[in-house]
Amino acid sequence: MGVGIEIGDMMNKAVITVKPNDSIYKVASTMANTDIGGVVVVQNKEIKGIITEGDIISEIVSKKADPEKIKVSEIMKSPVKTIKKETDLEEAIKLMCNLNIERLPVVNDEGHLIGIVTERDMTKAEPGLIELLREKEAVTAMKTWSEEEVDVTGLCEECGDYSERLTEHNAKLLCSRCKETEF
Ligand SMILES: [Zn+2]
Repeated sequence: MGVGIEIGDMMNKAVITVKPNDSIYKVASTMANTDIGGVVVVQNKEIKGIITEGDIISEIVSKKADPEKIKVSEIMKSPVKTIKKETDLEEAIKLMCNLNIERLPVVNDEGHLIGIVTERDMTKAEPGLIELLREKEAVTAMKTWSEEEVDVTGLCEECGDYSERLTEHNAKLLCSRCKETEF
């Protein structure tokens, strides 16, 4: 069934995350610096919500609210629909269309965030091209992000552990422990 492409093979393995208590100002800066349209809200390894450019426009900009005074928890969408990495691409696309959402966080069996897929990734997804795009994007994206004060959540490519502070080193996403042993 499906198109035979698992979400785990095409997802972005580094997810930009924010915390429920962060200000919308911080979130908007993060989005601007990383050129992404949505971030996942995580606290104590649990996904608490999701917040997009659209939410910021409708809840803050259009209401002339102060982005420095409003917290993420006040306008984030919650609960969040998530998928497993084994999910077929076709099923994921159907889910996104039905729910009218543009991004889906990917979780492991423990419910930890291990990646994210966006509508844009999916429309680009063609067999053969996927691997190439994923490698290229993960690395170039990390190069930009690691210069910023941005939380990147996902699985360490060395030890496989879940980490909320991944950094890029030698084209790999590493947790802080593995990063220290590399140096
Ligand atoms: Zn590690």
